[in-house]
Amino acid sequence: MTTNDFLLSVEGLTVSFDGFKAVNDLSFYVDRNEIRVIIGPNGAGKTTVLDLICGKTKATAGSVAFKGSELTRMSEHQIVKAGVGRKFQTPSIYEDLTVFENLEVSLPMARSVSGALMFRRSRSVVERIEAVAEEIFLADQLGKRAEYLSHGQKQWLEIGMLLIQEPELLMLDEPVAGMSVSERERTAELLNRITRDRAVIVIEHDMKFVKNIAHKVTVLHQGRILSEGDINKVQNDPKVIEVYLGH
Ligand code: ADP
Ligand code: MG
Repeated sequence: MTTNDFLLSVEGLTVSFDGFKAVNDLSFYVDRNEIRVIIGPNGAGKTTVLDLICGKTKATAGSVAFKGSELTRMSEHQIVKAGVGRKFQTPSIYEDLTVFENLEVSLPMARSVSGALMFRRSRSVVERIEAVAEEIFLADQLGKRAEYLSHGQKQWLEIGMLLIQEPELLMLDEPVAGMSVSERERTAELLNRITRDRAVIVIEHDMKFVKNIAHKVTVLHQGRILSEGDINKVQNDPKVIEVYLGH
């Protein structure tokens, strides 16, 4: 297998903030249909890795190849169009719009100016919105204003707003923070279902949730990989226990 066979190949990725390397010569590879979980102590550089992949932060050195395209040379907007969706730690939904409207404004064709002028609520658009709402457990909430959703439902809605754009790589930063146990279980089910045709990178602390979703775990520490492999390997790695799991 060559590195070109991976959906995402991160090689030598480095970012320096005033001389401090938050991400330091990082390399990892993500397969199609894979759920990769990134764990590690606060300040390890996890969020910064997602910022670098989605173009929010510019790399100092290194490469991020996605389906053969070099993302480090693209704008954030171009990276979204290339098929990378990213969810931030706090939900960024439109509180005063309904669930339906939040999904509608996230449709790729509603986002371009010319698309917005031509845009009609065609039957196929409505069906697409209903299908995504079903996937994110909000099928019976379509008419509800987003501000009245529970915290967990808001997180799902934001995942839906990304899914409706059909990304091939979806990146989620601590998606189950603040969720109830049953919401966490449903989120694991959701992520396992959607990776049938895409890859997902998840940053998470809840090890029970990590066990339910991870194909492979990458442990970051001080901007570098401390350990990588299946959950059993990293959980039993003395280095990981020392800097992270033991605390
Ligand atoms: P994590 O998500 O693993 O908790 P972060 O990626 O948020 O860690 O941060 C890693 C380190 O990089 C921290 O020390 C943080 O303060 C620093 N950092 C992150 N973004 C910036 C930035 N834009 N400018 C300066 N320092 C930053
Ligand atoms: Mg973070």
